[in-house]
Amino acid sequence: MSHVFHRSLTQDYPTAVKGEGHYLIDDQGRRYLDACGGAAVSCLGHSDAAAIEAIREQVGKVAYAHTAFFTTEPMEALADFLVERAPAGLESVYFVSGGSEAMEAALKLARQYFIEIGQPQRKHLIARRQSYHGNTLGALATGGNAWRRQQFEPLLIDVSHVSPCYAYRGLQEGESPEAYATRLADELEAEILRLGAENVMAFVAEPVVGATMGAVPAVPGYFKRVREVCDRHGVLLILDEVMCGMGRTGTLFAAEQEGVTADLITIAKGLGAGYQPIGATLVSGRIRDAIANGSGFFQHGHTYIGHATACAAALAVQTTIQERDLLPRVRELGEGLQRRLTERLGEHPHVGDIRGRGLFLGLELVADRATKAAFEPERKVHARVKQAAMQAGLMCYPMGGTIDGRQGDHILLAPPFILAESHLDEIVDKLDIALRSALGSR
Ligand code: PLP
Repeated sequence: MSHVFHRSLTQDYPTAVKGEGHYLIDDQGRRYLDACGGAAVSCLGHSDAAAIEAIREQVGKVAYAHTAFFTTEPMEALADFLVERAPAGLESVYFVSGGSEAMEAALKLARQYFIEIGQPQRKHLIARRQSYHGNTLGALATGGNAWRRQQFEPLLIDVSHVSPCYAYRGLQEGESPEAYATRLADELEAEILRLGAENVMAFVAEPVVGATMGAVPAVPGYFKRVREVCDRHGVLLILDEVMCGMGRTGTLFAAEQEGVTADLITIAKGLGAGYQPIGATLVSGRIRDAIANGSGFFQHGHTYIGHATACAAALAVQTTIQERDLLPRVRELGEGLQRRLTERLGEHPHVGDIRGRGLFLGLELVADRATKAAFEPERKVHARVKQAAMQAGLMCYPMGGTIDGRQGDHILLAPPFILAESHLDEIVDKLDIALRSALGSR
């Protein structure tokens, strides 16, 4: 019996022994095409020479230097790299070890900002239902996913949740996307007013929703309207790009495609592409200055913030993406994959919707396409698809979301940016096999 406290204590896991480009190989020699980057992490696949070399080199120089004593070259260089390319106004970077930590830092920065500027009563957070912002208690409280929150509810701070922007289920008959965006922004504004605008700290959202909904972008104009509402009431906008950021949607930051900037943006997964655990919170000049000119000290920290080796790995990953000009490739491959999925599975009786942006795509699985009824949760459709996909040699990321208060199922695809066109066919072929095996033949 394994002594590892695995996530599922009832499941056996194959042992991964080798990474080769976009494949992971187990100790039985089975090859798995990684079409989800684990959890949208491995954007350069599993054997990137530059990332491996950068780690080796940095460990040989300074593996780790505590940030209470030192700064380091890779941390400074990575911050420069990110700020040069970030949406307007984001001027500094706080480095952590993953997405949840990045969210915790963002929440605390928002809170401390309002204390520094003499508005300590601003403490309310608003986020969206069917969202996921991490598993630490602050980040879990922010997310609206009922299934993940349920048993920890008594431990969570009070956060308001408004409707997500979810055209497949939210757009009403005859409603234009513009009217839908306005309706949702009005709902946000009404919630701000209900709480008392002077008490609200921040609104939190993912530009393209990943784990809880399966790559759902907002309708055009939604984020512009949300930004206007936040500005009107002095509320900060926190964009969670932990999953959708770092090129995954075809631009370095997903917010670029919305034409908005944020006061805080969190990133993680693709930042280090799995070569090292790393996340970051990008901070606006306004927030940084308020703290710098006030107490001068951010009242937060972890042992491994700004880890030198993690920063060196992330810098190598991001430099490679830029030097190989992979972002246009992400858009091209993404279009190719979405087209192939639509051709092959668009009429599948249990595929309700195919959506996404760049190499961040989702398929929503339904019991009935006409009514959009979800499968009964007891059928555990997402778990069956995952198992069938692994048997077919494909890693995809099927998840149960919460649809109208009950579980629903979707599959997330987030393959590496280094694929060839032929690999797109392989993904679709294997996914088709997995769906047949999990849901029966069509
Ligand atoms: N935010 C989003 C949007 C995520 O998808 C995730 C993880 O899936 C997190 C935050 C938490 O990141 P981590 O698992 O690295 O703590």
